[in-house]
Order: sequence, then structure tokens, then C-alpha cells
Amino acid sequence: MSKKFSLPRGTSDILPCDIPSWQFVEAQAREILKNYNYKEFRTPVFEDTGLFKRSLGQTSDVVNKQLLELSSNKEDTLSLRPEGTAAIVRSYIENSIDRKEALSKFFYIGPMFRGERPQKGRLREFHQIGAEVMGPGTSSPYLDAEIIALSGHLLNSFGLKNFQLKINSLGSVQDKENFSKQLRVQFQSEMTQLCMDCRQRFERNVFRILDCKNKQCREIVVKKEIDYSYLSQESQDYFSCVKGALCDLNIAFEESPLLVRGLDYYTHTVFEISDSSLGSQDALGAGGRYNNLVSQLGGASVDAMGFALGIERILLALPENQDFLKENLGVYIITMDTRALVRGFSLLNDFRHESISCDMSYKVSSIKSQMRAANKSGARYVIILGEEELENNEATVKNMDSGEQERIPLQKVGKALKKRLN
Ligand code: AMP
Repeated sequence: MSKKFSLPRGTSDILPCDIPSWQFVEAQAREILKNYNYKEFRTPVFEDTGLFKRSLGQTSDVVNKQLLELSSNKEDTLSLRPEGTAAIVRSYIENSIDRKEALSKFFYIGPMFRGERPQKGRLREFHQIGAEVMGPGTSSPYLDAEIIALSGHLLNSFGLKNFQLKINSLGSVQDKENFSKQLRVQFQSEMTQLCMDCRQRFERNVFRILDCKNKQCREIVVKKEIDYSYLSQESQDYFSCVKGALCDLNIAFEESPLLVRGLDYYTHTVFEISDSSLGSQDALGAGGRYNNLVSQLGGASVDAMGFALGIERILLALPENQDFLKENLGVYIITMDTRALVRGFSLLNDFRHESISCDMSYKVSSIKSQMRAANKSGARYVIILGEEELENNEATVKNMDSGEQERIPLQKVGKALKKRLN
């Protein structure tokens, strides 16, 4: 018996019946991103492994545990992209975009890949809608506010209402250095009570202890008094401006000193949006400022900020039984005998060239079974071609909503249907 193949673990098929909801989310996103003047960017789904290691940080979980490498040729390793920012920055530098515009706004929609342990809402292939602003002209707190506002606007437009926004500031690179020193002092005495991952994080990426999900680590973390003393006055002022701009836009947020984000490249504002109805994997999206990434990857010293929303989680959070706009077929052609089938097949071709969506069953079968197929296709009109119709060079046209039937000459039927369908 031949082997049956099944879906790779941690991936999902998006079946035709699920496509309307995906297309709805994507179309809403494109419309809104256009209104904010963000331009679409498409990069390959794999890149040099070094690009991800350098940008996300050797110690981040994404690089350490989740990078899916395509080949293990030591000199030239490629990996599937675990996120969208690094590749956009790589291309931004490679195409010298910073010399062409002071402020670039990009967005992307596409699959990302992480070697995670799959569970509900956590996949190995998942999809993100992301946006990035970068360039010499992006050091404005209003852009931090715009990026946050835009992610909320997108979620609202999909029909999500009950999500929570948390924001924090990590400050400049120097502030982050101060922050890690402070944290090491705070956690030193409790090192042995932390999980094995956090013990490693202590040296390499101490911030990550703050968002460790391990119960015992959380108990230790929540008792810590984390204030903003690591932030310079300049960074504090910047953060105040961001918060002020969000208040002006009536965007509700919670300040969360424990929010640090897992990737090395973040500086200043970071944020996360969650929806408690999602259970343990409750993050809908996240983002922040990454002012040093472009220069770190060999580009000019320009600031940047961005976010990514997870499409699968958005769809999980949407209320069930939503009537996403299904694309109904315009016309279904039913033929009663072989001669009618030949005529119907050529009519199908004429209609398609007149931009009428249409289909048929491609063989002669009972009118009942063809009618059933027409109903299933959601066709707005059915054309019946039988012996009598062909004798008179006519087609019977049935309006599937009203049930009304009429005879129309075959030469005129395309135009007549086009008019009715519009
Ligand atoms: P991150 O790049 O980890 O901040 O992810 C941004 C968003 O992408 C998250 O808030 C999730 O909505 C989504 N996401 C991240 N990882 C996964 C995953 N493994 N499976 C499904 N969605 C994910």
C-alpha cells in the first residue's frame, strides 16, 4: 500500500473554505496601511543565518532554539526567516534606500518559521502582518505613537475590541546597559532558584528573566521593584512624549516595567498587545523601536521602529460565525445534452473574457445534480441550454434570488448578464 503523507507538525493548511477570513484580514490591512502611507515590501523567505544571529541576538530564544536552518554547509548557512524585520533592514541597506528618502514606511504580509513546540496558537509556520518605519527622519516620538496606534487600528478593523496594550521603555543602548547591571544586582542572590534557562540569561541576556513564563521565576520577578531609574532624563522625556501622544489619540495603555521583548535589537519604546481570550498564547502582536539595528547590520546610523501581528492568532480571537464576504460566482451553465455541452463550454469562455465569473459541470448529467452544483457555487444566475434553446439560438436565464426565468438570444446573453450582475 502506498504511503499517505500528512501535514508537517506545527503547520496548517489554509483550506478554500477558510480563505475568505484570511482575505478579509489581508484586504483590511492593505487598505489601512495604504491610508497611513506604508508601502509593501517583499523579501525571500530564507536568508543568511548570520543575518538573524546578528540582528536578533545570539542569546535570543528565536536564534538559540527556534531557527530552522535549511543547510548545514558551515560557510554558507541559510535559515527560514523567523521574523520580518531583519530581512527588510538587510534590503534597505543593500538598496541604499536611506539615501533616497529620509523617512521610509514599509509593510509586509507573509509566512514566518520557528522551530517551536507546537500548541494552540503556536505554530512552526505562521503568518504576520508587520510594519516598519526607518530612516534619518524617524527619531520622533510621534512615530512611536503612530506605530502603536496603527497596530490597534488594524486589530479594531478586523473586529477585535477586547485587547490590551502594554508599553514600556528600555531606553538607549547606554540605558539598557545600566538596566542590565541593575537587574544582575537584583537577581544575584536568587540565581539558584531561577530555571536553567534564566541562569543562562543572567549572563547573556538578563532582561529575558523578566518575561520568563516559569512559575517560580515569575514569583521571584513580580516581587522586584523595577522603576525607571535606569533611564536617562532624555529617554524619560522621550517616553513621556510617546505616552502623551497616545493619550491625545485616546489610546488606552498600561505601563509595564516588566515588558522587555525577547530580541536584542529593541531600544526605547517596546509594546505588546494581548487578548486574554486566547489562553496561554495570548499575544496578538508586538513591536518597538530598534535604533541601532541598521548600523549594526552595516548601514547608516538611522533610527527605526516596527511591529508584527500574528494572523493565526487574530483569526482565533475573532468571534465565530462571522459572515466574511464570500465571492459568489456570477453564472453557472447547465447543459442538457452533448451538443449543449459543446455550446455551453464555448459560452463559458466568452463570459470569462467579458469578466463574468462562471463555471459548469463539464459533462452531461441530470439537471438535478447540475442544479445542486449551481446552488453550491452560490451562482447568482443559472443558464440552461437544452435542445429547445439551441433550436431557437437562445438561453434560458434563471435569476437564483427571485427564481424568475427568461429567454435571451445567445448572441446577447453575455452583455445582458454583465448588466444584471453589475
Ligand atoms: P514576535 O515576533 O515573537 O514578537 O511575534 C509577533 C506576533 O506573531 C505574536 O504576537 C504572535 O501573534 C505571532 N507569533 C509569534 N510566534 C508565533 C508562533 N509560533 N505561532 C503563531 N503565531 C506566532
